[in-house]
Amino acid sequence: MDPTDEHEGEHLDGNGVAGILQQVFAADFTTFQRVCQSCGDRNMGGALRSYLGAGIVLRCANCGDVAMRVSPRDREIVVEMRGVWSVAITSS
Ligand SMILES: [Zn+2]
Repeated sequence: MDPTDEHEGEHLDGNGVAGILQQVFAADFTTFQRVCQSCGDRNMGGALRSYLGAGIVLRCANCGDVAMRVSPRDREIVVEMRGVWSVAITSS
């Protein structure tokens, strides 16, 4: 069996998971948990250090490595996230 065929037929496109991703991205960012890719520090989004310039850069409060870049452009906002992020969403 070709390893690239392992999940053939088991996938959706991005539209198929839009509902759950909408919940994730509507959640309160300050409650997101993040594990830093450089130092392993675990912290909440609200604890990151933020720097404002041409865009926004959030940095690990422990080592200063980049956790997120937010870059406003003409008609879009580009977001780059680093490290391992997680969010707990409770259903009502
Ligand atoms: Zn760090």
